[in-house]
This record gives sequence, C-alpha cells and structure tokens, in this order.
Amino acid sequence: MSDCLFCKIKNSEIPADVVYEDEHCLAFRDIQPKAAVHLLVIPRKHVENLDDLTDDDSEMISHIMLTIPRIARQQGLVEGYRTVTNNGAMSGQEVYHLHFHILGGGKINPL
Ligand code: AMP
Ligand code: ZN
Repeated sequence: MSDCLFCKIKNSEIPADVVYEDEHCLAFRDIQPKAAVHLLVIPRKHVENLDDLTDDDSEMISHIMLTIPRIARQQGLVEGYRTVTNNGAMSGQEVYHLHFHILGGGKINPL
C-alpha cells in the first residue's frame, strides 16, 4: 500500500523510533504518546484492522500476540501495560494499517 503511513514506516520511507522488529512485525514509539511508554506494534503485512484478517493470517497474528508481552518486558513494563486496537471509524481508528497500542510506564487511567 503505497499511501499507507505505517507501510512507509515499515519500508523506512519515513522515520520512526523503532524499538523491535522481526519477520512478522515491528514496534515503534507513537509520535503523540498518551502514556510514558506508548508503542505501536504493526504487522509487516498490510492489513487494515482485525476485520481484515483471514485464516491465512493465523500464524502472523498469533506471533504478534505472543510478541507483545516480550516487547513490553523489553521496554521495562514489568508492572503492567494496556493493549488497545481500534477497528473502524466509530472506534476512532486513524491509520488503516492494523496496529496494537502498548501503553504503560506508570498508572494508566481506568477504561
Ligand atoms: P489509531 O487512532 O488507533 O489509528 O492510532 C494511530 C496512532 O498513530 C496515533 O496514536 C498517532 O499518534 C500515531 N501516529 C500517527 N503518525 C505517526 C507517526 N508518523 N509515527 C508514529 N506514530 C504515529
Ligand atoms: Zn500499510
């Protein structure tokens, strides 16, 4: 997706503070952090959001779910963190490339 912001980050076409990457995903710091630590974890594959996943994505999405806690630990979030994924217009999704927010580094307000 040539006009996708997160594909551009993935392809190093625009800069980002990348803290983790592997064959399926990468994680970088949110440009407008809503917590002391605010990361975004994205699949390398362009998928719009959870609604866009198919059975063919099973390995990729399970890998990401297993990797999120490793990234959180690596970033020092040993006392807890929150993951959030917005899906679709009414959720406030702004970037239509699947991403998991990781928020932590201090007390987070209850949902
Ligand atoms: P969402 O509303 O769930 O689609 O979240 C999109 C997130 O992407 C927001 O928290 C933005 O602050 C973040 N964001 C937008 N542009 C960039 C960028 N260039 N680098 C890092 N994060 C970004
Ligand atoms: Zn994309």
